[in-house]
Amino acid sequence: MLIRTGDNVEVIAGADRGTQSRVIQVDREKGKALVESVNRVYKHVKRSQQHPQGGRLSKEMPVQLSNVMFVCGSCNSRTRLGARFSDDGAKERFCKKCGASAGQISPAHAGHAKK
Ligand SMILES: [Zn+2]
Repeated sequence: MLIRTGDNVEVIAGADRGTQSRVIQVDREKGKALVESVNRVYKHVKRSQQHPQGGRLSKEMPVQLSNVMFVCGSCNSRTRLGARFSDDGAKERFCKKCGASAGQISPAHAGHAKK
């Protein structure tokens, strides 16, 4: 599971299909992600201390991660991600289409460095 908070993703299923947006939060246990302005629902809230007016509150609900795909910043297409060790031994994510790095996921480690 290589999607991270802040990633640009495209929704590939459901009502918001085709929407590109940013990941706000990832729930690794449930395999779901909160994506900005995707899967918005109206929550009806009663009058309370916090919401003195009550009424409807628009908020995002988490979407299944299998319904979103990473959008690569280099080749600008939706793609799958792989993980690999770079020359200095750091682990990084990469685009399976163009091979561009999509950011480090763990710091350099001598044991994994290229000799
Ligand atoms: Zn790419």
